[in-house]
Amino acid sequence: MAHGQQSIAIIGAGQAGGRAAEALRAAQFGGALTVIGGERHLPYERPQLSKSMLIEDAAPKFIRSAAEWTSIGVDLHVGANAIGCDVERRVIGLQDGREFRFDKLLLATGTRPRRLRKLENGPVPVAYLRDLDDAVALRGKMLDGCRVLLVGGGVIGLEVAAAAVLRGCAVTVVEAADDVLAQVGSATISAYFRKLHSGRGVSFLLGLTAAANVEGGAQLSDGSFCAADLILIGIGVVPSLDLARSLGLPLESGIRVDRSGATEIPGVYAAGDVALQWSHCAQRWMRIENWANAQDQAASVAKSMLGGDQPYEPASWFWTDQYDVNLQVVGTLNGVEEIVRGDAAGAKFCVIGLRDGEVVGGATVNSPKDMAVLRRLVSLRKRPSRSDLENPAFDLKRALAS
Ligand SMILES: Cc1cc2nc3c(=O)[nH]c(=O)nc-3n(C[C@H](O)[C@H](O)[C@H](O)COP(=O)(O)OP(=O)(O)OC[C@H]3O[C@@H](n4cnc5c(N)ncnc54)[C@H](O)[C@@H]3O)c2cc1C
Repeated sequence: MAHGQQSIAIIGAGQAGGRAAEALRAAQFGGALTVIGGERHLPYERPQLSKSMLIEDAAPKFIRSAAEWTSIGVDLHVGANAIGCDVERRVIGLQDGREFRFDKLLLATGTRPRRLRKLENGPVPVAYLRDLDDAVALRGKMLDGCRVLLVGGGVIGLEVAAAAVLRGCAVTVVEAADDVLAQVGSATISAYFRKLHSGRGVSFLLGLTAAANVEGGAQLSDGSFCAADLILIGIGVVPSLDLARSLGLPLESGIRVDRSGATEIPGVYAAGDVALQWSHCAQRWMRIENWANAQDQAASVAKSMLGGDQPYEPASWFWTDQYDVNLQVVGTLNGVEEIVRGDAAGAKFCVIGLRDGEVVGGATVNSPKDMAVLRRLVSLRKRPSRSDLENPAFDLKRALAS
């Protein structure tokens, strides 16, 4: 491919879109490069939104300044919504009527919060947290003494719970499942985090949902009432598939891509949260919604778009910080044999997940060095002996030689 004569358009100026644009230029792509972003902000990273931005009023982490995007020749349009794509004419249409031509297209449209509409209209203010504007608005509402009801005890819900506690709020979490952090798939990790938050004064209402937004709080699914001045809904996300629809791509739970990030339409790729990819660890097609995937898949797909042979093998890895506890999770712990190393009630331990003898997942609590080893064990598909892993005196690094 004559890189200099082609044009590439990227839809979505989030982390995957921004990193892909950088990677294309780093790989000497010399053609026109347009990035269209629906938010009014330059590309930024989201992890701070539910952590330092809520706790310490920290500034967001932008990937580059406007001048730096210009200096690498990226034609960046923010506050611009792409509403349609004509794949025959190779043209993207914006809501404001503008059109952009492309030879190759990357869809990095991410996800948006799953809404709970029945709670949205009522006397108690309701919030979601996905973008920078949401974080700034939420920070302004989480004032000392405020009673915050968090609907959803997943990663985002518990990060907001920690931030709210640190800001002096009284926090209740209502969660439909039997325990928090159900998506991590480890009963040990769920129990640890529930106790951690309980120790900080957070109340949990498990096996319940919020049914209605009523005067002074929420009515729950068992008919009981929970007082609240603010309701934050964190019940997961849905993929932004409007453009995929206008391209005629099959509508699934994401945009299905192969190892190079290619969709079934020649020249059209997808990366980041919106991409539906095969996970060896989980043994299923899934969206991998984390920082590392947005970063790594975007860089890999950028090279593939330029003709490189870059098969991307995702091993999902994410972290969360709550109070002074750092949790990192790799691969999957769902439906695995779980081995706990260290004291699961203590300050630091790790969990290893085996499927048919292969390490397919792991989680570390305040133990980043173990996570560095676990990530390698998962990506190298290692099969260490179970008795070694169960032996607290066994140096985990030695499992790499198994
Ligand atoms: C509050 C929060 C905290 C997080 N913390 C962590 C963490 O601690 N660790 C971790 O590993 N991960 C974390 N994540 C997840 C991580 O941030 C995401 O996986 C990552 O942002 C995905 O990047 P993306 O570019 O694929 O999608 P997004 O970041 O969602 O970006 C997609 C962009 O595309 C735009 N867009 C969509 N459709 C259109 C259109 N038609 N036209 C123009 N623009 C469009 C959207 O407005 C959006 O700006 C967190 C996420 C959130 C929300």
